Amino acid sequence: MSDTTLANFQEFDTLLRQRREELQAKIDPQTHRSASAGESVATPPEAVDDEAANAGVQNDTDLAQLELELAELVDIDAALGRIKAGTYGICTACDEAIPPARLRAMPSAHFCIGCQSKSEQRQGFPHNTSL
Ligand SMILES: [Zn+2]
Repeated sequence: MSDTTLANFQEFDTLLRQRREELQAKIDPQTHRSASAGESVATPPEAVDDEAANAGVQNDTDLAQLELELAELVDIDAALGRIKAGTYGICTACDEAIPPARLRAMPSAHFCIGCQSKSEQRQGFPHNTSL
């Protein structure tokens, strides 16, 4: 039995579902919190300034983290879709098989290592996401 082909996706299906649950548990409270924070702005404007400045820094960090987590969730759903379609473990850019070791480290990977590093060089920091 060779370890270069993925005869059985079950292992990765399980990993992806576990990871998705972890992410959803993290994301849900955050989306709830920002929604309720938006509703409760009943403080007079002059009193808000200092707090808003502090909260702004906090929110930027949270938001960046939230964006990464949401992006990973999208990747995970796409990976689960590829498991169903039978194309999981194949690089979506060059159609080469992604090494199982890489998939175990990052089950939502859709690029082989070569294409991943090319795409990271192209993108730079992932702060240009348009939501
Ligand atoms: Zn590739």
